[in-house]
Amino acid sequence: MQNYDNLIGGKWVAEAEAMPNINPSNTNDILGNYARGDAASVDAAVEAARAALPGWAGATPQLRHDVLEATGATIMARKDELGRLLSREEGKTLAEGIGEVTRAAQLFKFFAGEALRLGGEVLPSVRPGVEVMIEREPVGVVGLITPWNFPIAIPAWKAAPALAYGNCVILKPAELTPGCAWEIANILKESGCPDGVFNLVMGSGRTVGAQMVAHPGIDAISFTGSVATGRQIAVQCAENGKKVQLEMGGKNPMVVLDDADLDVAVGASLNGAFFSTGQRCTASSRLIVTAGIHDAFVEKLSAEVAKLKVGDALDPETQIGPVVDERQLQQNLSYVDLARSEGCEVIGGEAMDGQGFFQRPALFVHATNDMRSSREEIFGPCASVIRVADYDEALAVANDTEFGLSAGICTTSLKHASHFRRHIQAGMVMVNLPTAGVDYHVPFGGRKGSSYGAKEQGTYAREFYTQIKTSYIAP
Ligand code: NAP
Repeated sequence: MQNYDNLIGGKWVAEAEAMPNINPSNTNDILGNYARGDAASVDAAVEAARAALPGWAGATPQLRHDVLEATGATIMARKDELGRLLSREEGKTLAEGIGEVTRAAQLFKFFAGEALRLGGEVLPSVRPGVEVMIEREPVGVVGLITPWNFPIAIPAWKAAPALAYGNCVILKPAELTPGCAWEIANILKESGCPDGVFNLVMGSGRTVGAQMVAHPGIDAISFTGSVATGRQIAVQCAENGKKVQLEMGGKNPMVVLDDADLDVAVGASLNGAFFSTGQRCTASSRLIVTAGIHDAFVEKLSAEVAKLKVGDALDPETQIGPVVDERQLQQNLSYVDLARSEGCEVIGGEAMDGQGFFQRPALFVHATNDMRSSREEIFGPCASVIRVADYDEALAVANDTEFGLSAGICTTSLKHASHFRRHIQAGMVMVNLPTAGVDYHVPFGGRKGSSYGAKEQGTYAREFYTQIKTSYIAP
């Protein structure tokens, strides 16, 4: 069994404890033992990152570009192997795993270019002869805390802009999926990232994550994960003056109107609700359907759901991989029971036999938006179908949630699509597309209870990973 260590100050550091990385498709398959750091590991990583900061913040944009470009190129060259690793540790199908790895490579390459493009502004002052320069500088040492459901894309979309704009990084991946994060650390090191600029501290949220949030040597925290953890982190960051960015949960609506193309609506809902085993913050977990198309939609969607092949993520026939672990499986099953007790007709949703955490996708038909099963994020292959009278009610129900990450509408009416785009309270809107499935070069993030702080991805990522300095220069 191979051991995987933390990367601190450019050295691989073994820790007193390690944790097995278990394949959710086959619990007999252990990918390796991954180091479990503690508060002292964070202290060491902060010391290394602070020591490396002046050099990296002052490095030429060309050097930052070259490190990120080489990292992206290596990830792309190894995408099949890394996609397989991702499928083994998280449970996405192989096609989804390779797709996510490809996206990680594209993110590093995109931000390699951004390293060269970071500019400022020169404005005339209101005072004669004076010039005003507005420049962006790195924030400093940034702590990245990431969830298990996108184990390579999320570390990539945080680390790549952080490094491009001259910050030093401490990454703490979720304990359930440390393998992809370890590979990123290794590839960055091999790509010439100077010692201490990128540090990997694997370990639990309660020890490593909490110490990162508390540590005065970390200037900013970028967090993706659950609402409960995110809000706690935001309060602590406010108390100790850290910049913070949170991407959290969703209960994303997919509105289907009477005039929708039925095949498009069913295809988008099937993908949005169930692909990646529904373990996406952007999953379409509320299907809000107008009365005229409701019965035909449910009939066709349930037939498609019944055909989905659930199984081992590495089997090329598999469309829906396993749930990530036993705890998440039990949580999903308890929501299936809850939906039934709330009066829904439940189609599917059973646990399946096997050496992994397999569950049939579940539709909660005849749901209403006030049910707990329609309001709380389940984070599994479960979607509520909510019948509404018309577009106005659909929009009201879609907005009646604490979340605001992604939202979709299936319609052939330009009028309704445009109205929905303007009035839905969500950070991302999809027309005739699944609520999940986003590009890598444009802003990502939500509103309301889903997000806090600056957006991720695209050129907008610089809002979080840089700080503005305004200089006045007299001749
Ligand atoms: P989580 O339990 O909140 O964990 C997220 C990360 O925070 C993990 O690395 C975790 O460590 C760490 N953590 C836990 N407690 C902490 C603490 N007290 N201080 C600092 N760090 C702490 O979330 P998850 O179950 O991994 O991920 C699922 C959630 O992420 C869902 O709600 C999903 O919607 C959300 N998500 C959102 C987006 C988005 O962009 N909006 C994208 C993907 C996922 P350990 O788990 O290793 O202990």
